[in-house]
Amino acid sequence: MIINMSEQATKEQIEHVVERVKEAGYQAIVTRGEERTIVAAVGSGGRRHELEALAAAGGVADVVAISDPFKLVSRQAKPQRTVVNVGGVRIGDGSLVVIAGPCSVESREQLFSTARAVKAAGAQLLRGGAYKPRTSPYDFQGLGVEALRLLHEVRQELGLPVVTEVMSTEDVDVICEHVDMLQVGARNMQNFALLRRLAVIQTPVLLKRGPSASVKEWLLAAEYLLAGGNRNVVLCERGIKTFETETRNTLDLAAVALAREMSHLPVVVDPSHGTGRRSLIAPLSRAAAALGADGLLVEVHPCPERALSDGPQSLDFDGFRDLMDRLAEPMRPLEARIGAA
Ligand code: PEP
Ligand code: MN
Repeated sequence: MIINMSEQATKEQIEHVVERVKEAGYQAIVTRGEERTIVAAVGSGGRRHELEALAAAGGVADVVAISDPFKLVSRQAKPQRTVVNVGGVRIGDGSLVVIAGPCSVESREQLFSTARAVKAAGAQLLRGGAYKPRTSPYDFQGLGVEALRLLHEVRQELGLPVVTEVMSTEDVDVICEHVDMLQVGARNMQNFALLRRLAVIQTPVLLKRGPSASVKEWLLAAEYLLAGGNRNVVLCERGIKTFETETRNTLDLAAVALAREMSHLPVVVDPSHGTGRRSLIAPLSRAAAALGADGLLVEVHPCPERALSDGPQSLDFDGFRDLMDRLAEPMRPLEARIGAA
């Protein structure tokens, strides 16, 4: 249940509602919006009729039952879209934010040259992997702390906020000291210990959808973060496993539109992992932009053929510039289709 406080509700009235929610046997999660505050009553086994009765309490606008299992992530609970601030870059404010960089941080020269190139082409955030989840234990596993130091340095020098993946609860503190946003990779979407740990910090989290996860499971994974207190969550669609073998994954653009319909959280699209093919990045980026995605996550490498991970799906610098130019191109005029008919 969600208790919507009125715009005029006082601090005391909000505190009273929080107390009553707890007395009724629920956990109370308070979200202070720009205009009004909402109190979410979550948990099971409480006395629901006592919550319903709060409609009569001072400062309460209404009490709404949320039918979705993901209470705090649901658009029913919060119709206004969430904007997540990542080192000064706003994701979810209606603009298209481009996050770009190498799959893995490989060296100072590789990271700095990529950061300069993507920034010059218009990317607002830099992403580079320090800890890599690799299918084979014999593949490059990332430079770890050395990569974190390089990411921090490049961030100071270029003023570009940085994103990197966290795979283990043990690394959370050190990663937070160096970067602006933590990525939870597809394989870790349901690593509940990791989600619980990330819920008690305020650093923004980029939560990738698991390759076999339904949209509901993805949103419930995000619910772990919000329920624990971290509201700075951005969802990322990166393709799912299907019977198709020509692409690495099947980029599920319907899920992007659906997640934006079901949730107030921003949703970004990763066409690199979503297709595994360099040639498909531009068309799918344009499609994502057209359907209202809040951002893109694109892998870029100075020399993809030498990349230590994900070379076949990485753009080189010229390719990334072309992508950015094509994103700015208008869509085909409708008259052209009518004329052709
Ligand atoms: C990555 O972003 O480089 C990565 C490993 O992604 P995913 O978790 O989506 O496979
Ligand atoms: Mn990758």
